[in-house]
Amino acid sequence: MQKGQINVQTENIFPIIKKFLYSDHEIFLRELVSNAVDATQKLKTLSSVGKFTGELGDLTVQVEIDKKAGTLTVKDRGIGMNAEEIDKYINQIAFSSAEEFVKKFKTKTEAEKNAIIGHFGLGFYSTFMVANKVVLRTKTYKKGGQTRAMQWECDGSPDYTITEIDKEDRGTEVIIYLDEDSKEFVEDQRILGLLNKYSKFLPVPIQFGSEKVTETVEGEKDEKGKDKTIEIEKPRIINNTDPLWKNKPADCTDEDYKKFYRELYPMTFEEPLFQIHLNVDYPFNLTGILYFPKVKRNIEIQKDKIQLYCNQVFVTDSVEGIVPDFLTLLHGVIDSPDIPLNVSRSFLQSDASVKKISGYIMRKVSDKLEELFKKDRESFEKKWDDIRVFIQYGMISEEKFFDKAKKYMLYKNTEGKYFTREEYEKHIKKLQTDKDKNLIVLYTSDIEAQHSYIEAAKEKGYDVLVLDGILDSHFINTMEQKESTTRFTRVDSDTVDKLIKNDEEIPSKLDDKQKDELKPVIERSIDKEKFAVVFENLSENDVPFMITQPEFMLRMKDMSALGGGMMGMDNLPDQYNLVVNANHPLMTKILDEKKEDTQNKIVKQVYDLALLSQNLLKGQSLSEFVKRSIDMID
Ligand code: ADP
Repeated sequence: MQKGQINVQTENIFPIIKKFLYSDHEIFLRELVSNAVDATQKLKTLSSVGKFTGELGDLTVQVEIDKKAGTLTVKDRGIGMNAEEIDKYINQIAFSSAEEFVKKFKTKTEAEKNAIIGHFGLGFYSTFMVANKVVLRTKTYKKGGQTRAMQWECDGSPDYTITEIDKEDRGTEVIIYLDEDSKEFVEDQRILGLLNKYSKFLPVPIQFGSEKVTETVEGEKDEKGKDKTIEIEKPRIINNTDPLWKNKPADCTDEDYKKFYRELYPMTFEEPLFQIHLNVDYPFNLTGILYFPKVKRNIEIQKDKIQLYCNQVFVTDSVEGIVPDFLTLLHGVIDSPDIPLNVSRSFLQSDASVKKISGYIMRKVSDKLEELFKKDRESFEKKWDDIRVFIQYGMISEEKFFDKAKKYMLYKNTEGKYFTREEYEKHIKKLQTDKDKNLIVLYTSDIEAQHSYIEAAKEKGYDVLVLDGILDSHFINTMEQKESTTRFTRVDSDTVDKLIKNDEEIPSKLDDKQKDELKPVIERSIDKEKFAVVFENLSENDVPFMITQPEFMLRMKDMSALGGGMMGMDNLPDQYNLVVNANHPLMTKILDEKKEDTQNKIVKQVYDLALLSQNLLKGQSLSEFVKRSIDMID
């Protein structure tokens, strides 16, 4: 037996490892299984180039737990190590990198440690987060020379021993003697959960325990004449060694993609709309599949479903900082060894390779959308309502995406017709350009509530867009910023004609003197605090009174509803305009009426009608309106 001390230059790092990453002790299993898989892959490579000519045999990696002994074991039949290699790889290289990792992060707070993506870097020595003793038994694949099987043992102090042992089979076996406070790792469900999380797509089969499966017996029938089945106990393989994203896109069918989606999200029943298969190896290596889900109103719960892998090892399900925020609405897998994983998220945005990767993914996503749009406009329109939040989010938050997406983003009008920006401009230009050459885009945020305004606008030949999504108010602001000659106006914010036509074009039936006379008469019967009387020269056929709200007020309200009461806008007083149609015959009638009581009655009635169409007539006022209306019929 040989005893030794692991190279300790400064201080003993074992106690630090133990306390390290307190919330993430579980990653030790990922490290062990990955090492076993690496050793197996290396042997396969050696075999394929003729440097290993022996039998490969069954290469399944095995994970075992022994409750009584309190141990967890990971076994592989990979390349193994001889004495010299144990010293080189375990005592020196692995230890120094663990030491470096610990030194680098020792001074960080718990929160900062947790922000480090994937916590890669501790490697083999991460086992000491959960172990009070680690035994490594290994036999190299090499023939001749130093080929005895060896056992390395360390009890979490810098002292280790190396002994020759008898071990028949090639490969490595790491036995973890679990610490008193890490006994959770002998629980079946806990280990199964971890293997499913981290190792579900590793390229070498991993076995843990067994499972019952039902199999049909060839050629035999049961009493009912059906194929005879038997239940048998089989080794449980926890991974899919050939995940779809590693395949060539040309070899994958639509059905394959759907099946893989269900494999990724077994608890999700909804099918994705479509997907993008990512596959590059220069100037960085990246594979993956991104799925477009139907984007719901509550986008927060849909975020962070993308799983990040590094060579098929699961790293995290939060790609925040790695891709632009709007892309985190997508689902799927990104696999890249070129994303730095032992850094904190805040560092990522400035990392050059991450920038390139993020830019690449954004371009791919945009190209795919453009392709769908160009190839099959009809089906793109069908999907539009489900993806528009995603596209708007991208356009609002990423300049580069805006420039691409503006070619295929769609507007939908109240008739259910879809237009690109360009098409829409052509469609409305003639009637909806104001005297300053601004394009006036009318929209509704609620088809039901704003129905009468929509109808009034349409009657005049104007077009109304439906912008009732959660991001539409932000989106409108973005569009106006980018296109200074386009103005968005909600159908009920201002009378359409006032916006589009020059007010003076329509002559007024009332002169200024008459208006001055009429104003106080109207004000007698309305809520003056809330409603400001404004005269407009509408057509005779328009309604006598109409309630509008300034566009800026509507937008501030929409924004504060979204942004959770920013700048105290929750308490915005409700301010409305009572637009009085100076050309309506009723106005002269009111002026000519001698009895004040009758004047009040008429004003009240048309005022209530205006309130009603904005859904503002409630309670006592509503009851009075109903009563008055019935009286009038009498
Ligand atoms: P990394 O895997 O990142 O290189 P580790 O600390 O996990 O770092 O492992 C250090 C080295 O120990 C590995 O590079 C490998 O050479 C050797 N090693 C670890 N586990 C095994 C194993 N199961 N079989 C063969 N060699 C192994």
